[in-house]
Amino acid sequence: MVYKASKQRELIVSHLRDMDGHISAEQLFKRINESQKISLATIYRNLGILVELKEIKKIPLDDGFVYDKTCAPHYHFYCDTCATLFDLENTDLVKVHQTLQTESVIGEIDTYEVTIKGTCINCKKN
Ligand SMILES: [Zn+2]
Ligand SMILES: [Zn+2]
Repeated sequence: MVYKASKQRELIVSHLRDMDGHISAEQLFKRINESQKISLATIYRNLGILVELKEIKKIPLDDGFVYDKTCAPHYHFYCDTCATLFDLENTDLVKVHQTLQTESVIGEIDTYEVTIKGTCINCKKN
């Protein structure tokens, strides 16, 4: 089935809503293709549009990107062992952002990206 651009975007958004965590274009591609045909290029194009519309955030990783449905400022923890990106809810870290925002002489903060790396609890156990 062929979708017009907006229909394809709706399809992508509805699948994103059903998926947990931070999602790669490849994961989305596999998931949608279980029920209908969509090309990886189409997924990349529409994810790009959604990032521009600020509906999702693009998070750079060592070997590509994942997309985040949570656009509100938050920090990430990346596990090098299982390659999973976790959200950090630490309020002290958000305070750093607020301090920078109110006291910074550099300028106004538009967006920022902080990813702390390490080994997650699950991987530490093994
Ligand atoms: Zn891990
Ligand atoms: Zn996140």
